[in-house]
Amino acid sequence: MTTVDSLSAKDLLGIEPLSRDEIQLILDTARTLSDVAKHPIKKVPALRGRTMVNLFYEASTRTRTSFELAAVRLSADVVNINVQASSVVKGETLLDTARTLEAMTVDFIVMRHGSSGAPHMLARNLKASVINAGDGQHEHPTQALLDLYTVREKLGSIEGKTITLIGDIQHSRVARSDLIAFTKMGAKVRFCGPPTLLSADFGALGAEVHHDLKSALTGADVVYVLRLQFERHRMGLMPSVKAYTQQYAITSERVKWAKPGALVMHPGPMNRGVEIAPEVADGPTSVIVDQVANGIAVRMAVLYLLEAGRTKRAAAGGVS
Ligand code: ASP
Repeated sequence: MTTVDSLSAKDLLGIEPLSRDEIQLILDTARTLSDVAKHPIKKVPALRGRTMVNLFYEASTRTRTSFELAAVRLSADVVNINVQASSVVKGETLLDTARTLEAMTVDFIVMRHGSSGAPHMLARNLKASVINAGDGQHEHPTQALLDLYTVREKLGSIEGKTITLIGDIQHSRVARSDLIAFTKMGAKVRFCGPPTLLSADFGALGAEVHHDLKSALTGADVVYVLRLQFERHRMGLMPSVKAYTQQYAITSERVKWAKPGALVMHPGPMNRGVEIAPEVADGPTSVIVDQVANGIAVRMAVLYLLEAGRTKRAAAGGVS
């Protein structure tokens, strides 16, 4: 049981500021809201009259669509801004764009941006609630929340589990958010990858750092494969993709090093045959498709609970 009934902050910018109770509340609310997808009419009126804008400065199919469906299922109106075709290409600053949107009385801005901290800057300057849908190499909080939800649904609990994330940790906002989220909820997090894609500094943040795949997978409850983020690589980080694959790709042989029945996860999009073998991605313990489905329920919960917080602050006479 949690003692909170809404999110206390105006925005969701990362996992770091969330309390354990707030995370628990998001997961419990997502469980309730996941039923909406099973109804013949997949909609509840919780956000009727509210408007959400998807403001994506980096490519995304999964996350953008997931936020859109989450908002629609709560009866909000949704506008998608295609940044390539907007005034941004004419040189409008990020803040000008956001202020323009706010002048149109937008309630939620879901933002993805290549620079770490971009959504934080918007949040400080706008009355709308800002949700971080991935900022540079920093955080991707709703991905971590849907990962927690998926593990809890599949394994019954998070506490005491060992989660091993493998691959391009250095460039991964998912790895950072997952580390904070799983550690906060009582799990042990291991990071594994070649030294050029995983610096020892992560040890100070609470992760167990491994460069040897077998030792990283031994005893793991979850094998979490990350994408090689070629678009963020500088030259010389890897001798070759082939060398990476030979040493670190998750194949059906290697997955057996983890606990029997260990879950296989990936945030998408996958480079099949590079970081993960197709037979593992589609194998019996893969929950990659469940992650996608759970993403909608978790994002519904985030929107719903931010709205509950806004309503509470407005009732208390503060600025909503
Ligand atoms: N979709 C995730 C992200 O936006 C993971 C990835 O791109 O590899 O960070």
